[in-house]
Amino acid sequence: MGFVVALDYKNPYLYPFEEFQRWKQHPAIREILEGGKRVSYGARAINEGGWQSVPKLAFPGGALIGCTAGFVNVPRIKGSHTAMKSGMLAADSIAAAIASGREHDEVGEYQATLNDSWIAKELKLVRNAGPIVGKFGADLYGSTIAAMDMWARTIGINLPFTMKHHTDAEETGKKSGYRPINYPKPDGVISFDRLSSVFLSNTNHEEDQPCHLVLADPEVPIKVNLEYYDAPEQRYCPAGVYEIVGREEGSPRLQINAQNCVHCKTCDIKDPTQNITWVAPEGGGGPNYPNM
Ligand SMILES: Cc1cc2nc3c(=O)[nH]c(=O)nc-3n(C[C@H](O)[C@H](O)[C@H](O)COP(=O)(O)OP(=O)(O)OC[C@H]3O[C@@H](n4cnc5c(N)ncnc54)[C@H](O)[C@@H]3O)c2cc1C
Ligand code: SF4
Repeated sequence: MGFVVALDYKNPYLYPFEEFQRWKQHPAIREILEGGKRVSYGARAINEGGWQSVPKLAFPGGALIGCTAGFVNVPRIKGSHTAMKSGMLAADSIAAAIASGREHDEVGEYQATLNDSWIAKELKLVRNAGPIVGKFGADLYGSTIAAMDMWARTIGINLPFTMKHHTDAEETGKKSGYRPINYPKPDGVISFDRLSSVFLSNTNHEEDQPCHLVLADPEVPIKVNLEYYDAPEQRYCPAGVYEIVGREEGSPRLQINAQNCVHCKTCDIKDPTQNITWVAPEGGGGPNYPNM
């Protein structure tokens, strides 16, 4: 089962992992889970930018395909088909370039064939769904407007506008405007704690390596994030990588347990000050989801 939390949430006290645990306690969901066994756990940010966020696709020596380019059909949460098709289009363009003796240049043809493909057509049809839900809410009102926009385009009515996105980071509100949320304690049967869940992601990193979660300014986590946002990285990280320690001694500092990172990239996206950059760790480490 999966639980999606839109990362443009405002309350810095919101705790996506705990929202998931609380949801599992709803009688309708609990009924499904009772008698079952927790076997695995993982987390991943869904690339929700859609067509208007797709960057330039080719550069000398490489091309962006699949989720790297942001080809998820957002309302359907589906991107496997566009990932495969964009890989095929890139491969066709590269094979043709090699066959004609080219090397070290940009395969601009990939961009052109993609713009003419069903990927572009499909993503253009749903391009306003995400921004509409972000603006009007995920309730019946917002969903109805998003559905009307999508269906109008599907039946050929060309609505001549494309809505823009806001960044999830800048949507995060300051703690002064919100109250902490009390989440129920896990019962160990249906709901669980975060660390024992991360254990089930089989995450592993070589220990002797630089931290792959890079802070632009090491003072910001305490001086800004803790002071104004109650350090939301403690909560939005699904793996408990970020911990504020030393509060009791009066000298709080951010501890980064990088070895637990499940590579979801949420910190790179949601940190209100955009102070965290996720870089590829050494040694091919990360989560290992055997059933996926
Ligand atoms: C919760 C969730 C539910 C989804 N449900 C659906 C669904 O039902 N149907 C659907 O069609 N799509 C679904 N999607 C979307 C779909 O999973 C993605 O669009 C698709 O997997 C993208 O494929 P990809 O190959 O581009 O990227 P990925 O599947 O992300 O593959 C990228 C791979 O590269 C590896 N990698 C990253 N960095 C490095 C590095 N430096 N060196 C070596 N390897 C590296 C990663 O470990 C990963 O294995 C879902 C996505 C999420 C997050
Ligand atoms: S450190 Fe960042 S990328 Fe890693 S699990 Fe936490 S939020 Fe995700």
